[in-house]
Amino acid sequence: MPGLSLSPQPVREECPRKKLVLDDIKTAISEILTLHLDEYAAVVSGNFDSRPATQQRLRIAHEHKTLLIEMYRDHVNSHGC
Ligand SMILES: [Zn+2]
Repeated sequence: MPGLSLSPQPVREECPRKKLVLDDIKTAISEILTLHLDEYAAVVSGNFDSRPATQQRLRIAHEHKTLLIEMYRDHVNSHGC
């Protein structure tokens, strides 16, 4: 993944666990965005019946993302990576 390197520190091996959790966070955020776009499309087409189900899926997706970010924070703090 191309990334900006603003760190003056020497390049070192990226922690595989850190990268895995970051990828999971990215996936979780993509799912949330997709759900919001689905919600918008449903509203535009006049379909309001699917909103409760979409809201429930969004709640679960948000909780999942929050857990992943906490997992990431805890890993980085304990591993020092
Ligand atoms: Zn690590």
